[in-house]
Amino acid sequence: MKKPFLTLAQAKEIAKTYPTPFHIYDERGIRENARALKTAFAWNPGFQEYFAVKATPTPGILKLLREEGCGVDCSSLTELMMAEKCGFSGDEIMFSSNETPAEEFQLAARLGATINLDDLTHVDFLYETLGRVPGTVCCRFNPGGVFALGESKEGFQVMDKPGEAKYGMTRPQLAQAFSRLKELGAKQFGIHAFLASNTISNEYYPALARLLFETAASVAAETGCRVAFINLSGGVGVPYRPEQSANDIAVIGEGVRRAYEEILVPAGMGDVAIYTELGRFMLAPFGHLVTTAVHEKHIYKEYIGVDACAANLMRPAIYGAYHHITVLGKEDAPCDHVYDVVGSLCENSDKFAIDRELPEIERGDILVIHDTGAHGFSMGYNYNGKLRSAELLLREDGSVELMRRAETPDDYFATLIW
Ligand SMILES: *Cc1c(COP(=O)(O)O)cnc(C)c1O
Repeated sequence: MKKPFLTLAQAKEIAKTYPTPFHIYDERGIRENARALKTAFAWNPGFQEYFAVKATPTPGILKLLREEGCGVDCSSLTELMMAEKCGFSGDEIMFSSNETPAEEFQLAARLGATINLDDLTHVDFLYETLGRVPGTVCCRFNPGGVFALGESKEGFQVMDKPGEAKYGMTRPQLAQAFSRLKELGAKQFGIHAFLASNTISNEYYPALARLLFETAASVAAETGCRVAFINLSGGVGVPYRPEQSANDIAVIGEGVRRAYEEILVPAGMGDVAIYTELGRFMLAPFGHLVTTAVHEKHIYKEYIGVDACAANLMRPAIYGAYHHITVLGKEDAPCDHVYDVVGSLCENSDKFAIDRELPEIERGDILVIHDTGAHGFSMGYNYNGKLRSAELLLREDGSVELMRRAETPDDYFATLIW
């Protein structure tokens, strides 16, 4: 059972000030989860989480994570600017981007961010852009092929195709990049890889860590470069479906520790720091998209029309992603109706749920769409002239804080030349 962190009474009260639809985030859940991550990797003295800003680019959230000791992983100019405004600087910022414009490398360097290079050709591009290379540089590795874990009758637990991903460099290029960077003055190196997204497996990080630790040991031996950190990036997932079980971050941390003891320590690399760039795991379960049922329609199927649409949450429309829905106040009612829950875009893919078993929904019912805290609001767009919603923070004391106001038509028209 997925339980919302909001009751009907709370939602109704909030909606008096901030009409639906809105995104709301749970401060308590975010803090507890960030602490659990920190505890899981406490065995590694240099451990640092760099929250992937693209998942939830909201200052209220970034500042809260900063209080929990997190840094930020930025991938664009505006994300870097937001990080700076939120008080992040120097090695609290990782800059992992691809197809990077020169001005973004310049800003990252000015902020003292750790730059994560996506390609071998970016080494000289960075040098030409800055007139130097930073003392510490990270390189993104792509091992190619297929990455699969945990085969069972139901298929693989984790399956992705790094060989078809546009990111990172090959193993020979990684060594070349390190050697070239060293020649240009870099002193310390990091290795990063992102092999699979939204993994529901305690084995993903440990398997990735093993691969990166072995790569680090061999590249260090080959080039004489000092590897200071391994960046495990994002990809630890969350159970979007009620029948899935959540990853156990303590087990994941322990799995990475075992690989570290087995590979890095014997290689004389027992001082290497572990970094993560989790986005989804840090925030997804702690965000709800709250929306009101505004229409019902009975044709060849039963439809419930809500006041949110794919412009507020794009994942179902573009990936067919499952997001659980709870009808507030009917948490314990039998799910004896089957609905398509749909938004108002002139796009038939604008469906938050298809053939979903739910309690009977009446106009005016308030629905919680679960697990929208990451890659939810942030993927929003303005198609059909739809306006982005507000983002609220449910404080630990039960109060509600506005972190981002809803867009108005004036915002939508602001860039137009009439
Ligand atoms: C998107 C992204 C992340 C975060 O991924 P999650 O799946 O949200 O954990 C981390 N690092 C990089 C480079 C990314 O592009």
